[in-house]
Amino acid sequence: MQRYQLFIDGQFRDAAGGNWFDSWNPFTGEVWAQVAAGTAEDVERAVQAAHRAFTSGPWPALSHSQRGALLRRLGELIARDAEKLAETEVRDNGKLIAEMRGQLNYIPQWFHYFGGLADKVQGAVIPLDKQDYFNFTRHEPVGVVAAITPWNSPLLLTAWKIAPALAAGCTVVLKPSEFTSASTLEFVKLFEEAGFPPGVVNVVTGFGKDVGTPLVEHPLVRKISFTGSDATGRAINQAAAGHFKRVSLELGGKSPNIVFADANLEDAVNGAVSGIFAATGQTCIAGSRLLLQDSIHDAFLDKLTALARTARMGNPLEAGTQVGPVTTRQQYDKVLGYIDVAKQDGARLVMGGAPAERPECGRGWFIEPTIFADVNNKMRIAQEEVFGPVLSVIRFKDEDEAVAIANDSAYGLGAGVWTGDIGRAFRMSARIQSGTVWVNTYRAVSYMSPFGGYKDSGLGRENGMDAIHEYLQVKSVWINT
Ligand code: NAD
Repeated sequence: MQRYQLFIDGQFRDAAGGNWFDSWNPFTGEVWAQVAAGTAEDVERAVQAAHRAFTSGPWPALSHSQRGALLRRLGELIARDAEKLAETEVRDNGKLIAEMRGQLNYIPQWFHYFGGLADKVQGAVIPLDKQDYFNFTRHEPVGVVAAITPWNSPLLLTAWKIAPALAAGCTVVLKPSEFTSASTLEFVKLFEEAGFPPGVVNVVTGFGKDVGTPLVEHPLVRKISFTGSDATGRAINQAAAGHFKRVSLELGGKSPNIVFADANLEDAVNGAVSGIFAATGQTCIAGSRLLLQDSIHDAFLDKLTALARTARMGNPLEAGTQVGPVTTRQQYDKVLGYIDVAKQDGARLVMGGAPAERPECGRGWFIEPTIFADVNNKMRIAQEEVFGPVLSVIRFKDEDEAVAIANDSAYGLGAGVWTGDIGRAFRMSARIQSGTVWVNTYRAVSYMSPFGGYKDSGLGRENGMDAIHEYLQVKSVWINT
């Protein structure tokens, strides 16, 4: 069986305790790999290696342009090894091969973009109101970064964190999810070949309590970049407060996807289906609340259901598959639990609502694409993140009511608006409280465009020019002339 070791100070090694944990293939329902079970001792080694690499040796001596060149080289190597990386993530996570090929085609851009940005971060000369002084600013890397990722999109979210962190001049200890560590460990094999010095990027795999907690609490870690659930984000924010660490948190969502009667309804139906069912609903930006205007509600629901019924489920390694398994057994049970809650709360089941028992799904953790109508926004199914292929359909009469429902959520990550009225598009995008609003599209992201949450969906921004500043601190230098 394939075994994946930790990566510390440029070396692959077993965990200090010598233990391993299983990684499951959600399509076969079987263990396919074993991963080193890191401990606090491994965290200590990795953080010390990252600290050494940050303070001495070749990394801090490199110019900004040289760091940028290493990042761009890494981008080229990812493109070269794209197929292997994609297949590893499909096996470990159950994502569709078509989606992973698309991601791997795009992930190198993070390294090209932030590699290009590395030598464009400039300080300023301050036009003081005092004579005899010269004052300027420097943007300096914050230090060792703990990058903690969830199971739903390991490679993409790793790129979102480490490309800006390395461009800023930081060093990194990565902790992938215990459910999906393999693709991250395949990816870090490329660092030596790209020319990164040892210790600049380290990976400690393992469980939250064994690896995540000591990593977050380590005094030499100066910045935590976390993507995951709001419960863990809250715990991390509290732990970080002890040392006043900087924190960025990309957390959950319950994103509204709002369709007005004046929209192009064909486009909106496609956007609603891919908004919720892409990646089997396991995306933070899933359009899990579909708000339909009264006059089109019934006809739209019919079209939506007809399209969702055509979804081809099955082996995620086959290019034609459209809906794959749920990534973990725990998540599978959780989603089925939410389906029961929705039924008990009085939502009307329109389709799905059960494990998929189709021959092409084998023994994998599949759930039928599920649609509930007559959902009231106060129901748990409309307020809590399900993180699975379950859509809640909610009726509204006008713009004001759509805004009120959309904003009646603890979360504020993404929102979709479908309309043919340009004025409405501007009004809605101003009134919705979320970090991203998509008009007549859904789910688009780019390395160039800031991404993050309002309210309980998080703190800070990833991607775009804003992201590099999450890893920099400003120094003001005064010279007495
Ligand atoms: P999770 O919070 O359970 O785990 C995320 C990571 O945190 C894992 O690596 C885990 O081992 C680690 N961890 C757990 N406890 C920890 C602790 N006490 N200290 C430090 N680390 C700890 O989340 P998950 O179930 O893996 O991921 C699903 C969640 O991620 C969903 O809520 C989803 O919305 C969110 N998510 C958000 C975004 C975004 O960009 N906003 C993107 C993807 C996923």
